Amino acid sequence: MGTERNPASRLRAVLDGRVIDPGDPRYDDARTVYYSGFDRRPSAVVRPRDATEVARVVDVARDTGVELAVRSGGHSVAGHSGTEGGILLDLSELRSLDVDVERRTAWAGAGLTAGEYTTAVGVHGLATGFGDTPGVGVGGITLGGGVGYLHRLHGLTIDSLIAAEIVTANGKVVHADEATHPDLFWAIRGGGGNFGVATRFRFRIHEVDAAVGGMLILPATPNLLATFVEAALEAPETLSGMINVMRAPPMPFLPAEHHGRPIVMAALLNAGAPEAGERALAPFRALAAPLVDGLRPLRYRDVYEGGPEPPPAPAVAVRSFFMDGFDLGAAETIFDLLERSTASLSVSQFRVLGGAVARVPSDATAFAHRQRAIMGSLGAVYERGEERSTHETWAREGAAKLRRGEPGAYVGFLGEEGEAGAREAYPGATWERLRTVKARYDPTNLFRLNQNVPPAARHAARS
Ligand SMILES: Cc1cc2nc3c(=O)[nH]c(=O)nc-3n(C[C@H](O)[C@H](O)[C@H](O)COP(=O)(O)OP(=O)(O)OC[C@H]3O[C@@H](n4cnc5c(N)ncnc54)[C@H](O)[C@@H]3O)c2cc1C
Repeated sequence: MGTERNPASRLRAVLDGRVIDPGDPRYDDARTVYYSGFDRRPSAVVRPRDATEVARVVDVARDTGVELAVRSGGHSVAGHSGTEGGILLDLSELRSLDVDVERRTAWAGAGLTAGEYTTAVGVHGLATGFGDTPGVGVGGITLGGGVGYLHRLHGLTIDSLIAAEIVTANGKVVHADEATHPDLFWAIRGGGGNFGVATRFRFRIHEVDAAVGGMLILPATPNLLATFVEAALEAPETLSGMINVMRAPPMPFLPAEHHGRPIVMAALLNAGAPEAGERALAPFRALAAPLVDGLRPLRYRDVYEGGPEPPPAPAVAVRSFFMDGFDLGAAETIFDLLERSTASLSVSQFRVLGGAVARVPSDATAFAHRQRAIMGSLGAVYERGEERSTHETWAREGAAKLRRGEPGAYVGFLGEEGEAGAREAYPGATWERLRTVKARYDPTNLFRLNQNVPPAARHAARS
């Protein structure tokens, strides 16, 4: 390992013109991430154009021992896409997209956002499911699993992943699929950025075009919430979405007398013809007179239009959990938690799983929570760093009260929770298997700025 601590000159030697250092006028923009509270100052931001250039950056990080942060869309809730003094490998220029309409597949650069991919592939009346937010990177969401508007119909994002191009810790560009490096392919489907830098993904694309969806806001009581989640559990698999519960922010489209009062704000989508969508959504509309009914026929590629991209906030305390069922007691606990939160915005969110998610065996990928009925989360958005521990405690204790059944967490919603958090995301045998694959592809833990899986001991590195 070399002794050079400032890698900018070495990076410039291998990637001239693609290196932004602190003296560069683009520097502040280049280091900014979605949650601005993670105000980190890398010694260099580097923007490679392809896997070969990524490999050169990986070589420099490995040889200098300087911390390496990898960023696709910059939406990490744990601040992992920034580094203090290290190299920030920004993949935003990996933007290729090759759609094979006949074979229903697409190769996509890891630097595309979910919104960009959805719009471009949607031109053909086709889709791959990502999450609820267009700005999230295809890179980060795919490596974590991917739960959104199509998971009950077509599975998680990783269930549509056919292959990936990955730069491993030894600087090699590797193609991984079911037949080639199958252990690596298993691990990257849920195991996050632990195993290398994913530069391109090959996705299966599905015929999803006509849909009915949008936002539905109802005044909330514990009883209404429990019935709402029950309706989502009973809905056809064509319907997926997010059920948010919160005290209503002063949103201009909400009647003023409801500001500050509990609401259910659901983002729902039923894939398929309008008549079927109206039928699938009717039970939700019938629960109370809607405050806002934005459910409408749309084309899937427009799913993110006017959707719930929350305004960039300095920081958020998040905890995710799983539930094997929902009950009135859980709904009452949520109301109590929201009442007690001192955050500027606090929200509890529920996503019903099942359907295609549950049809994939739990050990087929590194996302092991496939048999859980509901994925829940608690989030508290806040402005000042000194509030952090208050909101972290609120989210942690609240999640422990709300979970039903085994503990568990979704890696995409893990904050800075250390190994305990990662172990909840990867329970039991998944953890051990990930550690073995980690030892094979990244034995020195070069890729450690993530929800880290430490390499298993005494395992030979693969050349
Ligand atoms: C507002 C918001 C909404 C969200 N909604 C959803 C949702 O609906 N469904 C869902 O499933 N998730 C959701 N998430 C979670 C999201 O999937 C994760 O935070 C994800 O990691 C973000 O990806 P990114 O590329 O934008 O993030 P980044 O910050 O760029 O990356 C996060 C981490 O992932 C790793 N990584 C990213 N790209 C690569 C790569 N190409 N190669 C290797 N490692 C990489 C790195 O460790 C990096 O630090 C949401 C997050 C936010 C902030």
